[in-house]
Amino acid sequence: MIAVAIDGPAGAGKSTLARAAAKKLSFIYADTGALYRSIALNTVRNNIDVSDSVSIEKMLEKTEIELKFINDEQRVFLNGEDVSDKIRTSEISMAASAISALPAVRSFLLELQRELARKNNVIMDGRDIGTVVLPNAQVKIFLTASPECRAKRRYDEYIAKGKQENYEEILESIKQRDYNDSHRAIAPLKAADDAVLVDTSDDTPQQSVERIVKIIEEKTL
Ligand code: C5P
Repeated sequence: MIAVAIDGPAGAGKSTLARAAAKKLSFIYADTGALYRSIALNTVRNNIDVSDSVSIEKMLEKTEIELKFINDEQRVFLNGEDVSDKIRTSEISMAASAISALPAVRSFLLELQRELARKNNVIMDGRDIGTVVLPNAQVKIFLTASPECRAKRRYDEYIAKGKQENYEEILESIKQRDYNDSHRAIAPLKAADDAVLVDTSDDTPQQSVERIVKIIEEKTL
């Protein structure tokens, strides 16, 4: 099996690019942010404060998260309910960033992610895939872009889905999440020593996909 780890901050283009590259290479694409978002959604639904680690740990005992691939598209199930669309809000983004700092949450999701890579040729994106989840991945890519550029992309995504969001707030939220994700004690966002750095600020999506596919092919052929 071949595993490609793509890490990087929010809005660097990981999901769009990983999905397109996976399609070209006939790999499955696993978006691990959806797992953290589903736990965040469960936390919010249960009216648990995102910093209340004791209650979140208790909640995890009764939480079942599953990834399914339907027509090559990942769907995430929370206790049997398909929540793939409900997890895409700014509220859940911030909550996911907060709960993802908890060791209990990270270890709860670790085996699920590794199991996927054992069974499939996969491009997996997240924050700690190359460093913690799949340290032996054949290919590691660290994607980045300027915060303004990333905020603009997120804003355009929300608008395209008909969601009313404010650009300045998204930019603030991205900066806040960058800070949270890279300063947490456990599995902080950072490039693996053997990752290839790819800055997507000045690329069209097609150009970035080509760069990524080329890196994967060079490393695996
Ligand atoms: O990638 P996405 O924006 O959907 O991720 C939501 C949040 O989940 C991130 O801000 C990050 O805190 C957390 N996350 C993580 N590790 C991953 C994927 C996501 O900590 N592998």
